[in-house]
Amino acid sequence: MWIDSHCHLNHANIREAGMPADLAARAQEAGVDGMVSVCCRIADEFPDLLQMAGFLDNVWCTVGTHPHEAGKSAEKTVTLEALVNLANSSPKVVGIGESGLDYYYDYAPRLDQGESFRKHIRACIETDLPLVVHSRDAEADTARILREEGAGKGLRGVMHCFSSGPQLAEDALDLGFYISFSGIVTFNKSDELRAIARTVPLDRVLVETDAPYLAPMPFRGRVNEPAMVAHTGAFLADLYGMELEAFAAQTSRNFFDLFTRAALV
Ligand SMILES: [Zn+2]
Ligand SMILES: [Zn+2]
Repeated sequence: MWIDSHCHLNHANIREAGMPADLAARAQEAGVDGMVSVCCRIADEFPDLLQMAGFLDNVWCTVGTHPHEAGKSAEKTVTLEALVNLANSSPKVVGIGESGLDYYYDYAPRLDQGESFRKHIRACIETDLPLVVHSRDAEADTARILREEGAGKGLRGVMHCFSSGPQLAEDALDLGFYISFSGIVTFNKSDELRAIARTVPLDRVLVETDAPYLAPMPFRGRVNEPAMVAHTGAFLADLYGMELEAFAAQTSRNFFDLFTRAALV
């Protein structure tokens, strides 16, 4: 059994692959027992996500502002208290994020990204929910802010779609974080990422699709969907020299150890 620890069932182009109920059913057939549909915009996306998670078994959601959206006033005006209340509004909300820093696209001013990131970390500490971290081209600042806000305060979380260098992997592991790998790890050019993956302790590894983006080999270029996490998982099992079943069980156990509010029905 696999768990897709990070997907976006509501993003527009995933509709080419199907409606959320179809995607969840296809995932189930592929041995994917559960998935987290991650929030990027609190103001106009979270209500839909919560409703969807409400009517689909084993589909959970998060609440948070993606770094790309961190400059928008509708997101900036969400207070820490409001974020905490939304996070505690339903047992289907299993984490906070995705938040972090994206200096590759720089769609939002870096100051706004940083402030938003700190707000999300504080909400995690207050709710004891895990943080879903998005970090791109921002390794030093990501590690620094996580440490400043979270070290020694019981902060838990995952570096999602990990594609940074070895230093951020090391810093995140030091902070007790999990590292989640997407289809990127299966791409031909990802030798450095595979080398990093080999250094991550097995009890800290998660798998994800980040669907509809980043379909793993051999589907690269197609619309990704949660069922495809089984391919990334099989690839990683091979990388770690593990039996498929054992690796699937391990990563699923890791998922439930981190996302403690998620429970299969
Ligand atoms: Zn992301
Ligand atoms: Zn995402």
